[in-house]
Amino acid sequence: MATGPDLAGRVALVTGASRGIGRAVALALAEAGADVAVNYRERAAEAEAAAAAIRGLGRRALAVAADVAEGAAVTAMMARIEAGLGPIDLLVNNAGIALRRDIEALTEAEFDRTLAVNLKSAWLCTQAVLPGMRARGWGRVVNISSGAARGSGVIGVHYNASKAGMEGLTRGYAARLVQAGITVNAVAPSLIETDMVRAGSEDYARKVPMGRLGTAEEVAQAVLMVAGNAFMTGQTVQVNGGMQFT
Ligand code: NAP
Repeated sequence: MATGPDLAGRVALVTGASRGIGRAVALALAEAGADVAVNYRERAAEAEAAAAAIRGLGRRALAVAADVAEGAAVTAMMARIEAGLGPIDLLVNNAGIALRRDIEALTEAEFDRTLAVNLKSAWLCTQAVLPGMRARGWGRVVNISSGAARGSGVIGVHYNASKAGMEGLTRGYAARLVQAGITVNAVAPSLIETDMVRAGSEDYARKVPMGRLGTAEEVAQAVLMVAGNAFMTGQTVQVNGGMQFT
């Protein structure tokens, strides 16, 4: 029995796949055989480069701009993907923002935007793909959470709340879809070397027991594992260099 997933003939959507973790996940899914829609918010050149790399692996790819915090934008994005690649079998809710704020500095607008981009987007995208997954009796939803869902994190309480909410969404959907052939899991990275972490001035690697930042490819490995396992649902897989054990 093959241990890696065979995603040949499957269509995947990765939100926020122009760079960082999303890009690595999109490429890993393509290597496993999937055709991949590469969502992004504004960095079109990076997204087109990711799509070109996927095509270089022999898969179909489509770069699609959409602010996934907006319902109308998600509806339009889904229509474009369906027309271009076909119905979505595998959804990775990865798009996220990390506005670093102390308790006193956080504004209502920043709280709302963080919850909309990090949490509401996952609900919007999941709702959009579920009818098709149900009809075909197969689906995989993977939510990119964070160690901040359960631990203190380094960004702020708004970010903690958005990621804890994502894990609640994961378990809630998983329980309700358990007989539909659709699994819903979360992968929770901590301190991965991407623009999000590079933007901070701190030496984050010192916080990691393994003494280094993780790589986006190490997160992608966990996403592939979850996508390939039909008996695993409602779980959160931590990828964190030993920062936390849950
Ligand atoms: P990143 O390098 O900052 O990349 C963020 C990606 O999300 C980009 O592709 C960006 O698109 C996209 N994006 C942001 N807002 C969006 C929106 N409203 N609609 C659509 N796309 C949007 O981040 P990353 O480090 O790879 O993080 C990816 C995910 O992992 C996030 O959910 C983050 O919270 C989570 N995470 C990261 C770490 C870490 O250590 N890096 C740890 C825990 C969890 P553009 O390029 O067009 O701006």
